[in-house]
Amino acid sequence: MLAHLLRRYPRRRDRDPQRHPHDEDPWEWHCGFYPGSHPGEQQNGTAATFDEARADFECAWRVFLSRRTEADFQAWRNQRDWTARKYALWDAGERLPSQKPNSMMRCPCGEMFDCHRLENTLIHVPHITAEQKAREVRRAQTVQ
Ligand SMILES: [Zn+2]
Repeated sequence: MLAHLLRRYPRRRDRDPQRHPHDEDPWEWHCGFYPGSHPGEQQNGTAATFDEARADFECAWRVFLSRRTEADFQAWRNQRDWTARKYALWDAGERLPSQKPNSMMRCPCGEMFDCHRLENTLIHVPHITAEQKAREVRRAQTVQ
């Protein structure tokens, strides 16, 4: 969420309003988002009325907005979208590709093989070694 205003509910009925007057404020606001800003740029507060909370929030939002670029908003959107995809996968009972154990490799010869199986590895190691040597030679020629 980028920013919001919300109605608070007292957490404890026995709280002393003289000692913690702000705990009795019925309105709370949060301004800012992350990623896309420095954590210290985010602000929040409480107020006795909705109008006060909204006015405080709008001031904070104008300051926050004046320091943002389109890239900041995009960073936030990317994070939001990535998180949504992650939870959708989890809900579907799947894991992210990076969480799946995977020992399959593509050899330079074009074949996919399981590198945890010795008999496969013995066949393809010479192909991989040859490809690495060829790449080193090409790199050396590029440098010259
Ligand atoms: Zn191979």
